[in-house]
Amino acid sequence: MAVRADLIVTGRIATLAGARGFGWVQAIAVGEGRIVAAGRRTTVGSLQGPATRRLDLGPHEVLLPAITDAHLHLTDAAVAGQRVQLDGLALEATLERLAALHQELLRAGDLDGWIEGLGWSIDQLGSWPEADALERVAPGRPIALWSHDLHTRWVSRAALAAAGITSRTPDPPGGSIAHDGQGQPSGLLLEHAAGLVDRAIPPLDEALLARAIAAYAARLAGLGVVGCHDPGGLAPDPDMERGPVQYARLAQAGRLPLRVHASVRPEQLDAAEGRGLRSAQVLGQGAARHADPVADRAGARARVGWLKLFADGALGSRSGALLSPYADRGGQGRLLLTPGELRGLIARAARIGIVPQVHVIGDRALRVALDALEAVPSARGGRVWARLEHVQLAAARDVARLRGLGVAASVQPAHLLHDAAMARRAWPRRQARAYRWGSLASTGIPLPFGTDAPVEPPDPWPGIATAVTRRLPDEARPFPGAEQLELARAIRAATLDPAVVAGEEGHGGRLTPGHRADFIVIPAEALAEPVRPGGALAGCRPRLTVMDGETVARAADFDR
Ligand SMILES: [Zn+2]
Repeated sequence: MAVRADLIVTGRIATLAGARGFGWVQAIAVGEGRIVAAGRRTTVGSLQGPATRRLDLGPHEVLLPAITDAHLHLTDAAVAGQRVQLDGLALEATLERLAALHQELLRAGDLDGWIEGLGWSIDQLGSWPEADALERVAPGRPIALWSHDLHTRWVSRAALAAAGITSRTPDPPGGSIAHDGQGQPSGLLLEHAAGLVDRAIPPLDEALLARAIAAYAARLAGLGVVGCHDPGGLAPDPDMERGPVQYARLAQAGRLPLRVHASVRPEQLDAAEGRGLRSAQVLGQGAARHADPVADRAGARARVGWLKLFADGALGSRSGALLSPYADRGGQGRLLLTPGELRGLIARAARIGIVPQVHVIGDRALRVALDALEAVPSARGGRVWARLEHVQLAAARDVARLRGLGVAASVQPAHLLHDAAMARRAWPRRQARAYRWGSLASTGIPLPFGTDAPVEPPDPWPGIATAVTRRLPDEARPFPGAEQLELARAIRAATLDPAVVAGEEGHGGRLTPGHRADFIVIPAEALAEPVRPGGALAGCRPRLTVMDGETVARAADFDR
C-alpha cells in the first residue's frame, strides 16, 4: 500500500518509543495529520513524493512530541488577565493597589462594579485578612479576591451584602464562612463557601469569554502546549454551559488550537448523566457524540474529562488534610467530603462511565482517597486512568498503594518553586515526604505534569526543569528528598503521560506510526545535561509547534 507523506522532517527527533528514554530517530514522515513513518533518514526519505514538504532541522534543534498540560483551569486562566493580580504583595501594597483601582473606576463613572482579583496568601499578608481592610480603601465596592491557591476568597462588606451572606447564613458542605467576635461574617469564605458570592457577580460576556479562551489557546501553542486537562472552572456551572459546551463550540468553529479534556464537577453530574456523557467522549454542541479516536481532527478537540472531586483544601490556606498537624499554624487541615460521601460520588460516576480525579494535597487526604478508590473497583482499570491531583505529601505505604490500585498521580512540579518556603514552615520535618516525584515514578504509574494555571503561570518549562533539579534557582542545595526525575522521564511526564491517562495511548504522546503529528521543535541546548535551575530547559521557547500536522505557532525568526 502506498503511503503518502505530506511532510518529512529530518534531524534529531525524540519519538518516545518504548518504555523509557527519548527513542531518537533521524526522520519522521507525516500524512493526513498522523505519523506514517519514523526511523532512518534513508528509509523515511523513500516516502518523498512530488508534493511532500520537507523540514530539515539544524544541529542546534531537536524535535519532541508536543506538551499536554494535565491540570489547567482553562476558562479561569483565560480571564485571569482581566482580574487584579496580587501575587507577592504584602498587605499594605495589596490595599494600595485596590485603592488605586477603586479610584480609577470612580473616575470612569463606575460606582459599584465588582473588582475581582487573585494571588494573595496568608504567608504574604502575615495574617488572615478581613472585609474591613477593603472597606477602608474602597468603601461600598463589591470585591472578591481569590487566594493564590484558589481555596479561600477574601471579600468586602458590599460583596457579602450583594450575595446575601449574613450572620445567619449556614456553612455550605465542605466550606465555612469566617466570623468576627460579634458573630458577623468577617470577609473570608473558606473552601466550598468561596462560591457563595458567585451568584452575585455578573457573568462575563459570552463573546468576550470565547475570545479570551481562543487567545489563551494560541498563547499555549506558542509555549509548545497543544492539549490540556481542565479540572473545571471556579464558578458554579451546573449545566456545563461555560466550560465544556463553550470549548466544543470553539472547536467546531476551528478556533481552538488545543485539545481539551473538560472535567465534570459534582454539581454537574445530573447534567452529565442527562446528556449521556462519558470520560473521553467527544463533546458536541450540548451533548457528547461518539467518534473514532483515530479520526479526531479540529472539530473533535473537546472531550469529556473526569469527575473532579476535592478530598481536602490546600497548603497555602493550611487546609490540606494531614496525618499530623501543621508545624507553623497548627491544625490538621480538613477533609471537604466525608469518606462515605467521597465513595458515594465515585461509585455514582463509575455507574455513568465517568472516571474520577480526586484533589489530594495532604497525606491524610491521599489515604482517604485511596481507600475510596479501593472500595469502588469499577472506578479504575479502564482505558482512562483514575487519578489523584497534586499528591503534595505522601506516606511511603500510600505511594506503594497507587501502583497496586492502578491509579495515576497528576503532579505540578512548578508548585515547588512558589511553595518551597511555605512547605518548610508547614512541614519542617516532613519535607522529604513532599513532592515525591521520583518515588511516584518508580512505581511505574503515569505521572502527568501540569501547571495548575492560573495558580501558576501556564509555561510548562520551569516545572519540567524543577522536576529534574528539585532545586530553586537561588539555592545551592536541592529541596530535601532524593525525588529528582531523569530528564527523559520528566519529558515523558509532560508529553506522553497525559495521553496515557486520557486513554489515548496509541493515538497521542509519541511520534511513532499511527500517532497524531503533534510536535514541537526546541533549541537543542534545552536538553543539555546537567539541567540547571533557571537554565536553558526552564527558559525553553519552542521554535515551531505543529498539531495534527499543521503549524499552530512559529517563532518570528523560524522561517522554514
Ligand atoms: Zn487546580
